[in-house]
Amino acid sequence: MIDGKLLAQEIKTEIAKTVASLIDNGKNAPHLAVVIAGEDGASLTYVESIKRNTKEVGILCSEYQFPASISEKELLEAIDFINNDDEIDGCIVQLPLPKHIDTQKVVRKINPKKDVDCFHPENMGKLVLGEDTFLPATPHAVMELLKRYEIETAGRNCVVVGRSNIVGKPLALLLVQNTPHADATVTICHSKTQNLQKVCAQADILLVAIGKPEFITAEYVKEGAVVIDVGIHRIEDKTTEKGYRICGDVKFNEVSKKCKAITPVPGGVGSVTMACLLKNTLKAYQQNIDH
Ligand code: NDP
Repeated sequence: MIDGKLLAQEIKTEIAKTVASLIDNGKNAPHLAVVIAGEDGASLTYVESIKRNTKEVGILCSEYQFPASISEKELLEAIDFINNDDEIDGCIVQLPLPKHIDTQKVVRKINPKKDVDCFHPENMGKLVLGEDTFLPATPHAVMELLKRYEIETAGRNCVVVGRSNIVGKPLALLLVQNTPHADATVTICHSKTQNLQKVCAQADILLVAIGKPEFITAEYVKEGAVVIDVGIHRIEDKTTEKGYRICGDVKFNEVSKKCKAITPVPGGVGSVTMACLLKNTLKAYQQNIDH
């Protein structure tokens, strides 16, 4: 079992120590701005979690919450304000945005130096080129899990299922980089992939970000493979007290019997994602020459 909770705690302890020593030396704490427009349930839960986690490590968090009716112009002005505030090191804009707002316009407005989610095309471009940049939190979390659990990726056949801009695509890019803890042979699959089961069953490391509860069953997995499950879902389950349970994109009970290592859901990638966002905020602070 790959324990994401434990790893997240390790990373957060490292960050908390660094922040405490900055404050001991009379410096300001790192400062993250979170922009949210509308009432998307998953976004609100995520923002609550950001607030809890930033507090835990001593990072300041300012929430800029707007109604879904906010105009694109007003939202762009809010981001401008954050960009121009030297006391703010990092900025994230919670997606999805209300339908009348052009997401790409908003993402492009964020100062790339504060773009701790790595959504801005400049940072995505750097990622493609293998240049130093913020790594998107979820793919970064997966790479941290592989590294800290000493799972060899060099030359291994890695199959990434999902090609979204926030998970599948950047994850595949990180795995294929010519760097230590990467150097994999990577296949990217998506909804048009033919013989998905056969392709997945050839993977030494199967990384799943498909957004479909328990889609990947034992037939998709090679005996002894490593399985990384990025998916996260709340599904109805009347046998539980709460009436629901949390699961991933992988059918954990059957796949875990067959593979060498697996990330659980919850307690896997998701826990580390938050720690990686905090890491990026600290990196933005350290690069902010105005301190
Ligand atoms: P998206 O819906 O944006 O992307 C899903 C991808 O899966 C698409 O590329 C899609 O293909 C592909 N796909 C869908 N159905 C199939 C299929 N039947 N066969 C093969 N490929 C398929 O999702 P995200 O990348 O944003 O998220 C994926 C999962 O990860 C979700 O469960 C989400 O909740 C979770 N998540 C978890 C995070 C964490 O920190 N743990 C953070 C972000 C997301 P196509 O491009 O052709 O449509």
